[in-house]
Amino acid sequence: MAFDGEKAKEMVKELRESFNKGTTRSYEWRMKQLKAMEKMTEEKEKDIMDALESDLSKPQLESFLHEISMAKSVCQFAAKNLKRWMKPEKVPAQLTTFPSVGNIVAEPFGVVLIISAWNYPFLLSLEPVIGAIAAGNTVVLKPSEIAPATSSLFARILLEYVDTSCVRVVEGAVPETTALLEQKWDKIFYTGNGKVGRIVMAAAAKHLTPVVLELGGKSPVVVDSNIDLKVATKRIVVGKWGCNNGQACIAPDYIITTKSFAPKLVESLKITLERFYGEDPLETEDLSRIVNENHVARLARLLDDDMVSGKIIYGGKRDEKRLKIAPTLLLDVPDDSLIMKEEIFGPLLPIITVDKIEDSFAVINSKTKPLAAYLFTKNKNLERMFVETVSSGGMLINDTVLHVANPYLPFGGVGESGTGSYHGKFSFDAFSHKKAVLSRGFGGEVGARYPPYTDKKQKI
Ligand code: NAD
Repeated sequence: MAFDGEKAKEMVKELRESFNKGTTRSYEWRMKQLKAMEKMTEEKEKDIMDALESDLSKPQLESFLHEISMAKSVCQFAAKNLKRWMKPEKVPAQLTTFPSVGNIVAEPFGVVLIISAWNYPFLLSLEPVIGAIAAGNTVVLKPSEIAPATSSLFARILLEYVDTSCVRVVEGAVPETTALLEQKWDKIFYTGNGKVGRIVMAAAAKHLTPVVLELGGKSPVVVDSNIDLKVATKRIVVGKWGCNNGQACIAPDYIITTKSFAPKLVESLKITLERFYGEDPLETEDLSRIVNENHVARLARLLDDDMVSGKIIYGGKRDEKRLKIAPTLLLDVPDDSLIMKEEIFGPLLPIITVDKIEDSFAVINSKTKPLAAYLFTKNKNLERMFVETVSSGGMLINDTVLHVANPYLPFGGVGESGTGSYHGKFSFDAFSHKKAVLSRGFGGEVGARYPPYTDKKQKI
């Protein structure tokens, strides 16, 4: 039977009852769920690998490193720190409220909705669920229908391991998500594109529900000439094609370098690509495929745009039936071409050139704020200027993508790349209301506070 508004309403009601009973609040319950999710990740490793193979032909090493072992370490990190995160945070006493004790108490929001994307379909579903449960909420997860094998696996296995009176999975596409979004939630956490992000935010506004929006954007890579070219090139290539073949929210979207350095960089990129993926990259097993026909057509449209004709300097081959597009480099594409206007989210990498490397900052700042920005340089002054001048969700100097792996750094966008953040304690915080609690005794009375406000009191 179809999942509709009535079913969504009933489900939220049940979860709210569980929340109101206080089931999810205890440390023991939260810990039990975290341990169960870690166990699930270990015991179902082969099924998860198979689902990722079916959805994306993800290379096994990528599936293991970027999804399974990351998910496991997210569970472990939360379990290790949970007690400390849950502890009220004492704040300094103030003369105005003397004597009193002030605490910030992390309180679960209640019933939360998590809507996830297809590109890292296991990790991007589990990691926010871990945060929501660690913070003591009841949860509904809606995985992406574009990764159907992982979505159905998740729906089956998660509910085998966790407390189903407090955690649910709803599979489906737009109608099911719309039915969910019509309900009143206490927090909505959405990962995906900005167009749907706007739909989510508008639905949330009806109930004044707070949101985290984990969106994307065009993440630039600025390449100075003062670098170790070989190392830089390897790190750009692995961050682009070695992360789901460019279908990653923080994948390098375009390169900016100087006119004079571009030939050296292009040569090095070509050599590295050939070394990593061979002469015919359509045949390698070390690259994910494009997720579906719609996304192949979207990427083909970027390549077939008249404005970039003659700009392909490497790759460009595609096999649309097998959902494959070779790693492709384009040089000096116009700023108003489609490939420079839309987030690429695939194996195409345009390189644009500027006279001076500092000119790249204005290029980046002329576009919407990206989720990540990368700089390769040995010049500390340039690094400082980059950090001070460029606005982005996160930044990484002399590498790509790796900042995502440090749980002490918040992960999230700014402006059109998103709002709010998660990872590590930031995930716990994303799903907690920080309640201000001031506690006083009955001493410390100050007469001047109370009427009547006599002349004498007013002179104090
Ligand atoms: P997607 O197509 O899987 O959509 C995301 C979710 O939105 C899905 O669960 C889908 O069912 C739902 N959805 C789609 N249309 C909807 C509608 N009309 N109403 C309600 N819900 C709807 O994923 P996508 O958007 O193609 O993902 C790619 C985008 O996500 C890129 O922009 C990428 O940069 C971004 N992304 C961001 C992060 C991050 O952590 N910041 C991670 C991954 C992807």
